[in-house]
Amino acid sequence: MTSDVASPRVRGFGTSVFSEMSRLANQYGAVNLGQGFPDFPGPSFVKEAAKAAVDADLNQYAVSHGAPRLRAAIARTWNEQYGMDVDPDSEITVTSGATEAIFDAVQALAGAGDEIVVFEPFYDSYLPSAIMANATLRTVTLRPPDWSFDPDEAAAAFGPRTRVLLLNTPHNPTGKVFTRDELAMLAELCQQWDVVAVADEVYERIVFDDAVHLPLATLPGMWERTLTINSTGKTFSMTGWKVGNAIGPARLTAPLRAVHQFVTFASATPFQEAMATALEQAAALDYYTDLNRDYHRRRDALKVVLDGANLPTLPVEGAYFLMSDISHLGFESDIEFCRWLTSEIGVAAIPPSAFYLDPARAPLLARFCFAKRAETIQHAADRLAMVPERARSGA
Ligand code: PMP
Ligand code: GLN
Repeated sequence: MTSDVASPRVRGFGTSVFSEMSRLANQYGAVNLGQGFPDFPGPSFVKEAAKAAVDADLNQYAVSHGAPRLRAAIARTWNEQYGMDVDPDSEITVTSGATEAIFDAVQALAGAGDEIVVFEPFYDSYLPSAIMANATLRTVTLRPPDWSFDPDEAAAAFGPRTRVLLLNTPHNPTGKVFTRDELAMLAELCQQWDVVAVADEVYERIVFDDAVHLPLATLPGMWERTLTINSTGKTFSMTGWKVGNAIGPARLTAPLRAVHQFVTFASATPFQEAMATALEQAAALDYYTDLNRDYHRRRDALKVVLDGANLPTLPVEGAYFLMSDISHLGFESDIEFCRWLTSEIGVAAIPPSAFYLDPARAPLLARFCFAKRAETIQHAADRLAMVPERARSGA
């Protein structure tokens, strides 16, 4: 993707694994369980609100840090959900998706020689965001099957150069939801080393069974040092609208806004207005309860399919991905497996090695997205029924 005119910073970026696998899925007409996006429509009342905003001529630049109605709705939602008082004027910024918020936060907080602690595997945009800031990632390994980590390894990752902890919970791609104890330990490390946390909590509403999502910012001493990043794309199943946000105290919001105003300046106005409506009405419509119930069903449906297709799944507590063990199938790498599955079986998945600094460290797994209609999961099931024999003979 890059060329000889590319600056050294971007030369190694290549093409995102999500774009690559979606392209391959299209090329082979595969059922796309790779790139994480719902293939079912988002809620009608939110779509209607977007159309109404366009028709009301709310089509010019929004306030750079976000439409006032949306920021007010985000503040109210945080208050209702987590009992926190957030000032919409100085503590909330609307961004073009969580991707932009992460990028802005990293540019705002880290620079040359600084270190950013992340749990590996980590979301694919974290590394390029760090590279663009000339900062370095320090990884702490999450180990399957429960994706726990060694507290000593976490403690050793922090030091005088650490500026940021970039934490994702519920976690993509593992489905881990960090526990209160784990968060408390990380909170202590942040305070000990005077580190700012950037908490990527885009799957906050998608948690399963007994798992509870706890925003890092709600732990004692953490509000003052945390930027929480969210994405209405996940909560309202409109990933293409790219309406994200960052919440945090003014001392962290101000530098983030300083970057945001020169990256996108503002996000699309009618979609911001529609997401204000979404947040204003969701609780009364039982939208979150329904979303959670539907995702339980989707997860259970895909789990039965994968387990039955010789692709045993690991437990999942949050987000909308299942990880399957592929180590017994005879493939050299998860990339080789995912290419084979897409081209030969007709189902696309994501190789989790794309979420590792050194892909060789990745356990042999494949990530499947279950934000899909029942028909899509059935369609995948029909094709995946062919996996056991083909894998044995072909690999
Ligand atoms: N963080 C994580 C962990 C994600 O999984 C995603 C997208 N799936 C994002 C950030 C980016 O969100 P957005 O589409 O709002 O930019
Ligand atoms: N976050 C989505 C995933 O994990 C993909 C988003 C993207 O394509 N940038 O699949």
